[in-house]
Amino acid sequence: MAKKGRVFSGARPTGRQHLGNYLGAIQNYVALQRDYECVYCIVDLHALTSLTETRELRQNTYEMALEWLAAGLDPKESIIFVQSQVPQVTELHMLLSMVTPMGRLVRLPTFKEKVRQQPDNVNYGLLGYPVLMAADITLYKANVVPVGEDQAPHLEFTREIVRRFNNIYGEVLVEPQILLTQVPRVMGIDGVNKMSKSLDNHIELAATPEETRKRVMQMVTDPARKYRNDPGHPEICNVMTLHRVFASDPSQMPQIEADCRAGTIGCAEHKRMFAEDLNRALASLRARRAELAQHPQMIRDVLEDGACRAQAIARVVLREAKDAVGLP
Ligand code: ATP
Ligand code: MG
Repeated sequence: MAKKGRVFSGARPTGRQHLGNYLGAIQNYVALQRDYECVYCIVDLHALTSLTETRELRQNTYEMALEWLAAGLDPKESIIFVQSQVPQVTELHMLLSMVTPMGRLVRLPTFKEKVRQQPDNVNYGLLGYPVLMAADITLYKANVVPVGEDQAPHLEFTREIVRRFNNIYGEVLVEPQILLTQVPRVMGIDGVNKMSKSLDNHIELAATPEETRKRVMQMVTDPARKYRNDPGHPEICNVMTLHRVFASDPSQMPQIEADCRAGTIGCAEHKRMFAEDLNRALASLRARRAELAQHPQMIRDVLEDGACRAQAIARVVLREAKDAVGLP
């Protein structure tokens, strides 16, 4: 069957995948495989922008591939590879940097947020992050980019850079569309920041049922609710939001919400119910992950094959971009 176009997305190997990655991005990665030619990248160079030591980078890269496969990515359908193994991206990044206004990068909300999060490590790569991301996407002429809402400013930036490049050098690059899920922004267990590996406010897909319960019990709920019998506000409770997604029996949710509102079910009680449903919902993914972990060479083969297939596309597009610019 002819595919509708090309999809590209990436994630940073800064730790194990969490509920935010899963609901905001991975679910779409899996769903798009059938109808699109999909290219999924473990963006290790992007990870370097916030790591001060890199001892776990290799292991994290391997585990990310493992978790993507466990979640349903099919290496026969999709190209799955590691960013640094397709070096053409750094060359395209350099070309795109020449049409990127500095002021635009400095004003990006994502940059400002990172400066707040890592004030002692505001490196050049961090500022250039969106330019490298624009290169990631455009190197594959991707039409669709499934990401979480936090990446929307970067996508908008990519579209601008494509327009600038094409205006100056001719129509070479493709302007991509963002694709969000139904749950584009999952909040962390702190209840105030988006769930994030680097903020350690996340619940890992691969956590044990016991670890999952522990993290769930730490989740911030409705701040107005101090005592068990206080009336709750399910519409602002992160536990309720996630419970709706992972409920074993969704038909029970209206009653749980009504009980919360009436103060007849306490937050701790509700969290225990949610943790149980969450563990049940993740059980098959965790089992597949454990099974795949028995075959590390297979994972390495998938990444090697992915890098070859990605390079085949990347070489052609980079050549077109260089021709347009006038480079030999
Ligand atoms: P880091 O803190 O190291 O940046 P992260 O948790 O933000 O890690 P990324 O690897 O940066 O994860 O993101 C991978 C994908 O998951 C991106 O498409 C991103 O938009 C999406 N994503 C990340 N966090 C969330 C979230 N809390 N809700 C929805 N989508 C998310
Ligand atoms: Mg991130």
